[in-house]
Amino acid sequence: MINIADNLRLVNNQIIAASSKTTSSTSKVSLLAVSKTKPISLIQQAYAAGQRHFGENYVQETVEKVQQLAELTDITWHFIGPLQANKTKLIANNVTWVHSVDREKIAKRLNQQRDINITPLNVCLQVNISGEQSKSGVAVTEVAKLAEFINNCENLCLRGLMAIPEKTKDKIAARDSFRQMQTLFNQLSHQYPSVDTLSMGMSNDMDIAIECGSTMIRVGTAIFGARS
Ligand SMILES: *Cc1c(COP(=O)(O)O)cnc(C)c1O
Repeated sequence: MINIADNLRLVNNQIIAASSKTTSSTSKVSLLAVSKTKPISLIQQAYAAGQRHFGENYVQETVEKVQQLAELTDITWHFIGPLQANKTKLIANNVTWVHSVDREKIAKRLNQQRDINITPLNVCLQVNISGEQSKSGVAVTEVAKLAEFINNCENLCLRGLMAIPEKTKDKIAARDSFRQMQTLFNQLSHQYPSVDTLSMGMSNDMDIAIECGSTMIRVGTAIFGARS
């Protein structure tokens, strides 16, 4: 039997331990619990243990879970998966954050579709840091242009950057990617006061990500167990 409260405690302790080793000026690392493919009951257990930020990857599943858990009004939902243009409308008003904006077309649609009567949608740019052909994410050389575009969208709030480095067992390569993200993030946060979020680090690389200045780690497996 999986014990969500125990797992959360372990991950939160790991965050504290990793944070204490960094000299980075970033204050606090927040924990996004990635609940994709997992049942509502496990999200409720995590909520009962105090977790409030949840991340989902698939549009339909996100909408269903948001509706089913609507009574838990202090949950903050983050969409972190690939987003197609024809699906933006379903996401624009169901979540508080989108971490995976990687082109103007998506930003433009989210901006048009976000209800003007609620707070702007928090947006992170997903960066293709490992330069992989197939991966989603904006190229490093295009980050400044897309950030400027998003910053000019009234119903979006530019919060920062997100990356999923190439899967590798090589800790040096992972650290290298995270360091590049840290540099990009530092530049962006100097330019835009609203930028305060560097979303990187998952179950297997959260320590290195925190060492490199992550402010938000996205953890699924270590909290909810392996996905089938
Ligand atoms: C699934 C997923 C995670 C969580 O990964 P784990 O290895 O299970 O911790 C984090 N970020 C994104 C974008 C994901 O798709």
